[in-house]
Amino acid sequence: MDIAALNSTKSLRRNVLSWMCLCFGFLSFAFAVFNLTVNNFALLGYIEVFFSIYCLFTYISLLRRPLRFWQSIVMCALITLIVILATALATPHNGVFVWSFALPILFYLLLGKQYGVFLSASLLVIQSYILGTKSSLSPFTTFNLSLNLMCVYLSIWAISHVFEGSRAQFSRRLRNLALLDPLTGAGNRLSMNHYFEVELQDKSQLYVFLLDLDFFKEVNDKYGHAVGDQVLVEVATLLRVALGRGYVFRVGGEEFALFSSFSDKEAALNAAEKIRADIESKQFDIDGLNINITTSIGIAKFRSSNSLEELVNQADKQLYKAKRYGRNKVYCKFKKEPALDELTA
Ligand code: GH3
Ligand code: MG
Ligand code: MG
Repeated sequence: MDIAALNSTKSLRRNVLSWMCLCFGFLSFAFAVFNLTVNNFALLGYIEVFFSIYCLFTYISLLRRPLRFWQSIVMCALITLIVILATALATPHNGVFVWSFALPILFYLLLGKQYGVFLSASLLVIQSYILGTKSSLSPFTTFNLSLNLMCVYLSIWAISHVFEGSRAQFSRRLRNLALLDPLTGAGNRLSMNHYFEVELQDKSQLYVFLLDLDFFKEVNDKYGHAVGDQVLVEVATLLRVALGRGYVFRVGGEEFALFSSFSDKEAALNAAEKIRADIESKQFDIDGLNINITTSIGIAKFRSSNSLEELVNQADKQLYKAKRYGRNKVYCKFKKEPALDELTA
C-alpha cells in the first residue's frame, strides 16, 4: 500500500497551489498589463509581473518535486501583499478590496488552521483600517454596506475555519486507522515500513529489538482472551515508556518490534535487558488479577546494505535463540552465547 495516499493534506495543498499558480499567474499578468498601461499604478504593475513569473516557476516546480511548506507561505504572502497594496492604491468603487474575501479560504487550505486564524484576523484589521481611512469615498458612505461586507468576511472566515478543522481531523483519523494497531495503539507493519523507508533518515546507529511474549497462549487459556488483550495493551504502554526515544510497532499477535538508535552495542543490549527485566518484574493488574509474564528479545543492528526484511529476519534469528535457550532472555549476534548443549545438559 502506498502510504503517500494517506497524506491527503499534502496532496490537497499541492493541487490547490498548482491551480492557484495557473489562475493567479494569468490573472496577475492581465492586471499587470492593465496597471502599467491604463491605470497609473506602476509599482503594483511591476509586483504583479514578478508575481506571475513566480507563479510560473512554482507551477513547474510542483510538476517535478513535492510541495514544500515555504512555497505555500510565499504564495499567501505575495497574494496578500498585492491585495493590500491594490486596496490602498485604488478607490473603493473599483471593488479591488473584494479579493480579500477569497484570502481566508486560501490561508486555511494552504497553511492550516493556526496560520488561517492569524492571517485572516490580520487581514481583517489591515483592510478595515485602509478602507476606514477612505470612508469619505463611495461606496463606504453607508453603514449598512460596511456592516454587510464585514459579515460576509466573517462568515467566509468561520466557514473556512470549520471546514479546515474537520478536514484535518478526518485526515488524521484516516491515517491513524491505517497505521495504528487498533488494540494497543502501537504502529502496525505498514507504519513500520514507512518509518524505516521514508521517515528514518539516519540509520547508522539503528537497532531493532524483536519481542515475543513467552507462553502467552497460557495467559489466554487461564484468564480469557479479553484479559490477554488488556495485557497486550499494557505491554505496549510499558514498551513505549521503557524505550523512551524510539518507535514501538506491533508486528504480530504478541510480537512487537522496537526501533531505536544507540551509541554502541552495549547501550542497545542494556536497554533491551532493562525492557526484559521491566516486563518480568511488572505485575499486570487486570480486573483485580495480578498477571506475570516474561518476554524473549532478539536484537539486530542495521548494516548499510540491509533491507527492512533482512534486518527483521536477523532479529528474528536471535529471538529464536532466546526462545530456544530458555525464554525470558535477550540475544544478539554480538553477545557471547552459551553453547546449546551447556544449557540442555
Ligand atoms: P512462546 O512464544 O513462548 O513460544 O509461546 P506463546 O504461547 O506465546 O506462542 P504461540 O505463538 O504458540 O501463541 C501466541 C499466542 O498469542 C496465541 C494467541 O492465543 C495469542 N494471541 C495472539 N494475538 C492475540 C491477541 O490479539 N489477543 C490475545 N488476547 N491473544 C493473542
Ligand atoms: Mg508469537
Ligand atoms: Mg509468544
